[in-house]
Amino acid sequence: MTHRITLIPGDGIGPEVAGATVRVIAATGVEIEWERVEVGIDAERKTGKFLPDEVFESLHRTSVGLKGPVGTPIATGYPSVNVAMRKRLNTFVNFRPVRMLPGLKTRFADLPIDLVIFRENTEDLYSGLEHEVVKDVVESLKVITKTASMRIAQAAFEWAAGENRKKVTAVHKANIMKMSDGLFLRCCREIAAEFPQIEYGELIVDNACMQLVMRPETFDVLVLPNLYGDIVSDLAAGLVGGLGIVPGANLGENCAVFEAVHGSAPDIAGKGLANPTALMQSARLMLAHIGERDAAARMQKAIEAVYAEGKHLTRDVGGTAGTEEFTEAVVEKVKATVSA
Ligand code: ATP
Repeated sequence: MTHRITLIPGDGIGPEVAGATVRVIAATGVEIEWERVEVGIDAERKTGKFLPDEVFESLHRTSVGLKGPVGTPIATGYPSVNVAMRKRLNTFVNFRPVRMLPGLKTRFADLPIDLVIFRENTEDLYSGLEHEVVKDVVESLKVITKTASMRIAQAAFEWAAGENRKKVTAVHKANIMKMSDGLFLRCCREIAAEFPQIEYGELIVDNACMQLVMRPETFDVLVLPNLYGDIVSDLAAGLVGGLGIVPGANLGENCAVFEAVHGSAPDIAGKGLANPTALMQSARLMLAHIGERDAAARMQKAIEAVYAEGKHLTRDVGGTAGTEEFTEAVVEKVKATVSA
């Protein structure tokens, strides 16, 4: 069976990590017809839009996308393409599993870190509602709704129950933002009551950050509003080797877009240095999502084998290899599992 999937290479290191990931998927033997669409600056040059309609037309046809990062100008310029896509597609869950890879030497290498982040993906301070009230006074609106909070909490608990996980922790700042984060917490409590078999805890976001650094192995599933989810995701990535490692999935009722936690990394773009592991692991989640569980497992095994050997790792994780050498090593391992 051939799957149709939308491929959005993105910009910065996006095309490099997307190209590497497509090669590894091809090596698994899974047949995919890619619908390649562009977003960001290249799309703007060609179509006049940073986020052309053909992206949504393609995703409506395929329901599944693999997406590289898209850079966002800081403090000026056009709004984030990544955020706009998540909102418009209503992919309200951002799922980010954070796990140690075998053999990787990190500061926390001796700890069994295996935590999963459920980040709300459509609202909060990402509402994009900002205005200057009077000169030099700016307001930014934090929007928290019951609908969005209930559905992210539901997703976190349902997943935890399905995977036999023990604990869900809601992360908040409801001591200060009593109404907005208070509503988020009430929703989490309401859903928690439906899952008595799962332990439920709450942590204020600053305390959560400290505890994540001091006792990362004690965390299981975390559920967070959008902004805390963003920040804590990068912190958690730092525990297991950095942004080059951690995969993600944007999940909605009608569509799933798989993308790494990292951004477009303009500092290393075009140099052949990017670590494609995070997007490869996102693709592994994608393969499982489309029912190709065997290929997903083989791909994961291959990535883990390359890390365990430690000979072809990229610089961000302490190696000397470039994107090409690492990718070739993973492709070889995938092929070895196919013929084994
Ligand atoms: P954006 O503005 O698109 O979000 P950014 O400037 O926030 O991008 P990130 O892409 O999040 O930057 O990267 C932060 C740091 O992590 C950079 O130094 C970058 O080089 C590094 N990094 C991120 N992803 C990778 C990767 N896949 N491989 C190697 N290094 C990476």
